[in-house]
Amino acid sequence: MSVYQDMENQYGPGCYPMRDMVLLEGTGAVVKDDHGKSYIDCVAGHGVANVGHCNPKVVQAIKNQAEKLITCSGSFYNDARAKLFQKLIEISPKNLNNVFLCNSGTEAVEAALKMARLVTGKTEFIAAMRSFHGRTFGALSATFNPEYRKPFLPLVPGFKHVPYNNFEKFAEAVNENTAGIILEIIQGEGGVIPGNAAFFKSVRDLCDKKNIVLIIDEVQSGFCRTGKMFALEHFDIQPDILCLAKGLGGGVPAGAILFPEKYKFSTGNHGSTFGGNPLTCAAALAAIEFMQENNLAGQAAEKGKYLLEKLEKIDSPKIRQVRGMGLLVGIELKEKVQPYIVALMEKGILALPAGSTVLRLLPPLVIEYEQLDEVVKQIEEVLK
Ligand code: PLP
Repeated sequence: MSVYQDMENQYGPGCYPMRDMVLLEGTGAVVKDDHGKSYIDCVAGHGVANVGHCNPKVVQAIKNQAEKLITCSGSFYNDARAKLFQKLIEISPKNLNNVFLCNSGTEAVEAALKMARLVTGKTEFIAAMRSFHGRTFGALSATFNPEYRKPFLPLVPGFKHVPYNNFEKFAEAVNENTAGIILEIIQGEGGVIPGNAAFFKSVRDLCDKKNIVLIIDEVQSGFCRTGKMFALEHFDIQPDILCLAKGLGGGVPAGAILFPEKYKFSTGNHGSTFGGNPLTCAAALAAIEFMQENNLAGQAAEKGKYLLEKLEKIDSPKIRQVRGMGLLVGIELKEKVQPYIVALMEKGILALPAGSTVLRLLPPLVIEYEQLDEVVKQIEEVLK
């Protein structure tokens, strides 16, 4: 065990399932440990490094901005923030014309929940079973997993969970006090479960009819991950509020909500000291420009298709189903996944669980085809 592991074990928070490795470097889809061993990284900081580790364009933007201005709170105008606002509005659905910047996914969800209460004057929310929206009190109230919720009860009141993709159950759960419905387009943590078009369309109509704010959480699925800039582009669905984080900052902590002008907060309703700081904005702007210049969405779509086809050909009695969108891919096993995550690590592949039986792959979207071949080869080996 290295000195860094000892130190983290002694001083760390205790809330993470620690892996027996110390990562020191990363480039593209590869990370290196303290013994110089390389791994193909299908964790990517939990779906953050969409543009690759230490993407040169992002690194350069951070360096340039660090020499100019690192911090500048939201009450002062700033060039990098203004440009990021404009860029985010350019790439998102047409009805979303304003941005609030924060630092993480859970903060984006908090902002969305507060906004939905403000604009409707109502207080309750409906979320899906198996959803994951974060771990602060509001976001945890929207998150389904009882294990995450139980130690912290009582949570924010007024949240109901109903089966994903089941419109009737959502419609039944609505009452005169429903402020918002919050949904992922594809459930990531919940097991890589895609939503369906008819469900989204019906939920959209229901929200319009009942003055309910439709919050779409693309913290995990956004920024080209599923083969489109945002996963909602695969479906005919307009969100009222879009939650973003993970891939947004090119590796730097960043979160955002996008919303229509009529939803704008009033002074004092919300805020964040670090949200929209110039360093993050410069990194995010560079990351999004890289995505556009390199058609990263197209790359994710093609590589995702390639990966799924190869995974589907694996002949293993342990596999129940292979599914995914773009490079958000799940392999559902008939048994617990954890031993296979460890076995893959030993073979130089980093992968994630999604629930107890799904092996999840969230590689950087710049991953090369030969690296995907290696991932498939090693998965086939361990699932033999
Ligand atoms: N929403 C979704 C869909 C997520 O996948 C996550 C994190 O995995 C979050 C929200 C919370 O994001 P964060 O960990 O940045 O707070």
